[in-house]
Amino acid sequence: MLGGMQDFELRVPRIIDHAERENGRREVVSYWADGTTTRTDWAGVARDARRLAQALEALGMKPGDRIATLAMNHSRHLVAWYGAIGMGGVIHTVNPRLFDEQLVYIANHAEDRVLLYDRAFQPIVDRLRGQWTTIEHYICFDPADGDAGFEDFIAAHDGDYRWVEGSERDPCMLCYTSGTTGNPKGVLYTHRSSMIHAMAEVSPSVFDLSVQTVALPIVPMFHAAAWGLPFAGAMAGAKFVYSAVNEAAVLCRLMNEEKVTHSAGVPTVWLAMFQHIDATGHRPEHLRLVTIGGSAAPRAMIERLMKMGIRVSHAWGMTETSPIGTMGAPPADWDGLSFDEQVDLVAKQGRVPFGVELRVVDDAGAEQPRDGQSSGRLQIRGPWVIRQYFQDSSGECIDAEGWFDTGDVAVIHPCGTMQITDRSKDVIKSGGEWISSVELENAAVGCPGVQEAAAIGVYHPKWDERPLLLVVRKEGADVTAEQVIHYLSDKVAKWWLPDEVLFVDGLPHTATGKLLKTALRAQYHDHKLPTV
Ligand code: AMP
Repeated sequence: MLGGMQDFELRVPRIIDHAERENGRREVVSYWADGTTTRTDWAGVARDARRLAQALEALGMKPGDRIATLAMNHSRHLVAWYGAIGMGGVIHTVNPRLFDEQLVYIANHAEDRVLLYDRAFQPIVDRLRGQWTTIEHYICFDPADGDAGFEDFIAAHDGDYRWVEGSERDPCMLCYTSGTTGNPKGVLYTHRSSMIHAMAEVSPSVFDLSVQTVALPIVPMFHAAAWGLPFAGAMAGAKFVYSAVNEAAVLCRLMNEEKVTHSAGVPTVWLAMFQHIDATGHRPEHLRLVTIGGSAAPRAMIERLMKMGIRVSHAWGMTETSPIGTMGAPPADWDGLSFDEQVDLVAKQGRVPFGVELRVVDDAGAEQPRDGQSSGRLQIRGPWVIRQYFQDSSGECIDAEGWFDTGDVAVIHPCGTMQITDRSKDVIKSGGEWISSVELENAAVGCPGVQEAAAIGVYHPKWDERPLLLVVRKEGADVTAEQVIHYLSDKVAKWWLPDEVLFVDGLPHTATGKLLKTALRAQYHDHKLPTV
């Protein structure tokens, strides 16, 4: 048949080209670990990315080579993404919060050739250099005065460079999952998956990005591709404000100075922000949309943000899904609902954007109805969902129809809203029925005096498992076990109430801030509940 459309490869460098050409003067602001602020713009990021691509080629880097970063959020890190990808490389964002053994494992497994890092992580570099067997070049993003670093590395290059062309199915980025057991696994994103994911993210029902947006992504660039924001924000021509320092006082000040409208981060960053607001009376004045994801956003947190007049989008996703799987955005028919009803809905994990598909199946693999009742294993498929882990000889991690089993347990409501009830490993199995540890924890953190809570199943001779609730008190609070149980009693089913509430000084977390339930289960494996 004569006629047709162009095969215009969906390559990531087209995003930065667009940002430079159409929104070149929109700023990218960086607050650095030493307290200084620098300003560049999309044209500056694009130019430096081309200079970096030249510098990497001069070192002998070839398409497909892995260029690693060990860094917080700032404009040079952004330049590193676009520069490494632009020369056909694969940017590998290493999470500095991992344990040493994991840091050694993933850099060697990825066969990283270059490491670009923040001076704050110099101790990690000094400690592990001898064990990283493939890294040939170390370049510091922000060296001490007088030392050579990133700016010197790109200084000799003029930016007269054409991006490496190729297939949209070429890899462009590598992120390892934090994994609570076994070795971390690499997820290898392609140009195409990153591009389609970013296009979906710009929409009003996802990140709602435009040339009016001023975004301060708190989510680190080493966590699940910073939720795709460096790509989606450039696509939309948003202004970016980055902070290499994750302190609420700094973030709040930057938000006000730069008139930040959009922010995104895991629940703990908002807890810190609340403490800052309570202590100082300062609050982010211009915020319109806050995206919370990575673990379940507690209802009390959503309620407080919404009372501040901020729209809250509750997102669910995983490194394996680029990471956006679902996002809560208010549909038109919420207008008639009460405030409390709206908060209840926002507390669920939202709906899929066009592109990905979700389903819930029972243990036998039978698809469950979207009735808001039938819970089961959550599965997902689509163009930004994993097919096979990086260098994993065990083969594809999806079934014949492309479904990836997330390891999460969920229900889907008739309106398409998905609700995570647990990680499949974390559900508490009591008398053959399932108790959602996530729901217990979220309810418990609403109790005055409770800072954080973790629910785990502990052996019970009659019920198989019963819930034990571990609670960290807020500073100065003297909340008792009876008060916690009383608070929970009208929020969860009676048989869900924990058999015991134990107060602890702190709870273990993974490198991405999730509760480390495996460690807790091991620690309390032989714990005897008072009901036994
Ligand atoms: P990661 O790949 O490290 O981002 O971890 C992904 C996992 O985080 C998911 O499989 C969920 O178990 C959990 N998660 C992410 N977002 C949410 C959310 N909004 N509510 C509950 N769990 C979440």
